[in-house]
Amino acid sequence: MELKYFLKNNEICPISEAVISLFNIEHSYGFGVYENVRVKNSIPFFINDHVERLFKSAEAIGLEHQFTEDGIIKCTKQLIEKLEIKTLNLKMLLIGAKERKDSCLYVLPLSPHFPDEKFYRDGVKTITKKYERWLPQAKTLNMLPSYIYYSEAKKNNCYDVLFLDKDDCIIEGSRTNFFAMTGKTIITAPEERVLSGVTRKHVITVAKKNGYDVQEKTIAINDLKKYQSVFLTSTSSKIMPVRMIDKMEFAGPTKELKELIKNFDEYLKSQEAA
Ligand code: PMP
Repeated sequence: MELKYFLKNNEICPISEAVISLFNIEHSYGFGVYENVRVKNSIPFFINDHVERLFKSAEAIGLEHQFTEDGIIKCTKQLIEKLEIKTLNLKMLLIGAKERKDSCLYVLPLSPHFPDEKFYRDGVKTITKKYERWLPQAKTLNMLPSYIYYSEAKKNNCYDVLFLDKDDCIIEGSRTNFFAMTGKTIITAPEERVLSGVTRKHVITVAKKNGYDVQEKTIAINDLKKYQSVFLTSTSSKIMPVRMIDKMEFAGPTKELKELIKNFDEYLKSQEAA
């Protein structure tokens, strides 16, 4: 599929110009923040949330820039209109510079990622690693441990790697938020300990609206057996049931989890219609 254009500093440019200089030290040292936005039928899902988080991430690492939320949203919508392909992912990349005026914003179209249907039916495999992200609320280019651990997970046919804190509590996945569930009670790590996932936020809203009790607290890996099911959330995963954590096996999604998945899919459809 052909994705012919991208945005550079809010200007639509041919994709052949999507390059970064090897001399860009801020890029090679990872002084940048990013977002992934899902676009379906030309609708960028939750774009306001993503751009807001992009700016919060930039603030968390002291990255000053000259962009505005409204400006980015407007130009991103113009880019989507110009692209022939209507269902895709957009990667937003904001790279800092010595001076605010030299910071750079790129919005790159990428092929969409759709997890296998059987993952939703049966649940996915995961592994755990002891690791806590620095500045967990920021989505930065500081990705080396996540990259290495995720590669190991992939080699072992796992969907993601789950990070354990020093007390052996599961905090989050390398690219997902983590939830455990029994009946209609859902537990997830406190917001300040994790990346505030856009999907996490909307899943919590949908769950509460549908009578689920959502509690924010850490989950010790040794207590996992107490829960009937566990699941992950992210922009491309939506709600993904987990079948295995290391050697620990969970039954397929419970009826309450299936119901929540249905509620959330309906909510996403309603966003398309809005
Ligand atoms: N946690 C981490 C560490 C992530 O990288 C991601 C992917 N952005 C998520 C959670 C899920 O966030 P979202 O629902 O916004 O995609």
